[in-house]
Amino acid sequence: MELTNISTVKDILSRHGFSFSKKLGQNFIIDPSICPKIAEMGNAGEGFGILEIGTGIGVLTKELALRADKVAAVEIDKGLLPILDETLAGMENIHIINADVMKCDLRRIIEEEFPGLRTAVCANLPYYITSPVLMLLLESRLPIESITVMVQKEAAQRLCAKVGTREAGAITAGVSYHGTARKLFDVSRGSFIPSPNVDSAVIRIDLNKEPLLDEETEKLFFRIVRSGFSQRRKTLSNALSSLMGIEKSVTQSILRELSISETVRIEAMDMDQLILFTKKLKEQE
Ligand code: SAM
Repeated sequence: MELTNISTVKDILSRHGFSFSKKLGQNFIIDPSICPKIAEMGNAGEGFGILEIGTGIGVLTKELALRADKVAAVEIDKGLLPILDETLAGMENIHIINADVMKCDLRRIIEEEFPGLRTAVCANLPYYITSPVLMLLLESRLPIESITVMVQKEAAQRLCAKVGTREAGAITAGVSYHGTARKLFDVSRGSFIPSPNVDSAVIRIDLNKEPLLDEETEKLFFRIVRSGFSQRRKTLSNALSSLMGIEKSVTQSILRELSISETVRIEAMDMDQLILFTKKLKEQE
């Protein structure tokens, strides 16, 4: 079945009485060139188990399953299950899990679904939960090698920005801490049914094999990042003083030690500076 043929898609959706949910971010890909590219650039291949988030009618799921050893796909909408039975019929290496990804035990899913396989994530993410899903995937220290996802174009810019530049935010620091992100290609709004109001882009994050900091220092790093960026117009010392109760003199003396201006804002600090600052602050606790 041709899942990017618009009349085939409309036919199957209407036969099953399916209507799109805006709330669940349901915009399905109908451009035939996109899913094969996501699969190929996203590690779907021999020896890999792929975790997909949000199947829609299975257009990407199918391309992943044609290349990888196994696909486990989490889909929240029960109404899509009978459709997937039809669109993915005969493909034995796919397991659909009907659940909310934010409530799943992803570690258990990976262990149970992909024994002996390497793991990667590929998805056309529901945009309303892009950041929470990415932070969940990154912060859970899962045995994942890469995350290849379609996100809104603006989100892609932020996620792939360099820490220390104006485009960066807390999520940029989170991604840079855990790995390396790059944009793969743009996708226009006309590539979806229904067509969303924004353009999209596919990005890939390659995850570090080892964490940069021990668990306690890592927690401190993320508290600093969240506090600093939630008051990004303030100096770092003011932001950390008001949100974390850290004496301004402590922050300022560490900054001096690192040859960074005492009046620096977090948005001007690069990744190395943020890591060094965190380590020094941890030493003083
Ligand atoms: N992969 C399909 C495609 O590319 O055509 C569908 C992508 S669509 C942008 C997002 C999908 O995520 C929808 O099928 C939606 O029902 C599902 N979804 C939304 N929220 C979810 C959640 N919390 N957990 C799992 N799936 C979710």
